[in-house]
Amino acid sequence: MSPSHPSPATAPSDEPRPAPSTRVLVLNSGSSSVKYQLLDMGDGSRLAAGLVERIGERTSLLRHTPLAAGGGTRERTGPVADHDAALKAMAEELAADGLGLDSPELVAIGHRVVHGGKRFTEPTVVDDRVLAEIERLIPVAPLHNPANLTGIRTAMALRPDLPQVAVFDTAFHTTMPEAAARYAIDVKTADEHRIRRYGFHGTSHAYVSRATARLLGRAPEEVNVIVLHLGNGASASAVRGGRCVDTSMGLTPLEGLVMGTRSGDMDPAVIFHLMRVGGMSADDIDTLLNKKSGLVGLCGDNDMREIRRRIDEGDEQAKLAFDIYIHRLKKYIGAYYAVLGRVDAVAFTAGVGENAAPVREAAVAGLEGLGLAVDGERNAVRGGEPRLISPEGARVAVAVVPTDEEMEIARQTYALVGKNN
Ligand code: ADP
Repeated sequence: MSPSHPSPATAPSDEPRPAPSTRVLVLNSGSSSVKYQLLDMGDGSRLAAGLVERIGERTSLLRHTPLAAGGGTRERTGPVADHDAALKAMAEELAADGLGLDSPELVAIGHRVVHGGKRFTEPTVVDDRVLAEIERLIPVAPLHNPANLTGIRTAMALRPDLPQVAVFDTAFHTTMPEAAARYAIDVKTADEHRIRRYGFHGTSHAYVSRATARLLGRAPEEVNVIVLHLGNGASASAVRGGRCVDTSMGLTPLEGLVMGTRSGDMDPAVIFHLMRVGGMSADDIDTLLNKKSGLVGLCGDNDMREIRRRIDEGDEQAKLAFDIYIHRLKKYIGAYYAVLGRVDAVAFTAGVGENAAPVREAAVAGLEGLGLAVDGERNAVRGGEPRLISPEGARVAVAVVPTDEEMEIARQTYALVGKNN
């Protein structure tokens, strides 16, 4: 019995029992935004969700939805100076719904941390040593880890007594064999600078690969799944029996698929060429490849809805961007088919994967020889539940499996600290 339940021997039966501690607050701190969700792991329900964006600007916005209490989304605008002010504003909104951070039911805060390097293979309770290690990884995640750290430190200051758990985007990929994780470059140089393929979106790949096994009615250990996380950022992974054996993002999220604004795979010599011939600096090229490439670089739009609309109007540039996107995706499906040897399911997830039926159809078109096909009617169905879109009796299941990174972070956090509470 958990210590939060007084035993019958010590508690008079007419005294109300304290509620069990089952709530987890999930924080995703970006450089200028904080997204949050409060979840109850007792029944898996979502109690509240919100975000604070444009932190540090005069036009910051807080949007809070009290999911359990009912009632609509509340918005506040006005300057939010920093992450401390953002989390305090969040705490006020939660308190207004009776869900304040001082509630005894809150068992832990789970933080999304983008880069955990090789070291963090599991969710980890944050202490000074863990903070220092996340800081040490800033050179390989300069955009993300500093913001994640700020979020953790701010939350620690608000509730120093509460376990803070770091859940790493890279952790799921630490099972990749060396053959997949290493680049074929000089080993000494690679090791000196910690250059290897880490992979990202791991929380999503973990959640979706497990949810896909559930959809098939099988244990995760039994199934091989190719997960295609297609959001604005996009990555593919090959998951054998619940363990990641390859993924498309690398040292940074730039490698792999064509994304909303990132190029994905490219001959690295393009960079030397742009430096030597184009006179561009490393920073210029970084911006070009991360922010001005991918779909936006190819056709000016990174929203798949807009690209499909333009294609329907006969726009050639949008069509070419779509074709390049699909060509790369298909190459990864084929590559991961070969890596896994046997594939039980291909799962589409995230904004594009969950919503863009034409992307799913085009990605598997012509792959009947691999046992892959999409049923037109099933593919057209919309909805928030995991569903099969392959024809009845297909050799390989093709599925749409909505991702839920917050639920996965809360689950991992609760699994680590909740049971002891
Ligand atoms: P991220 O978390 O990487 O910002 P999401 O997973 O939320 O991204 O995906 C955002 C993308 O999903 C949008 O840029 C858009 O291209 C795509 N998207 C969202 N809704 C639809 C839709 N109904 N049809 C096609 N694409 C969509």
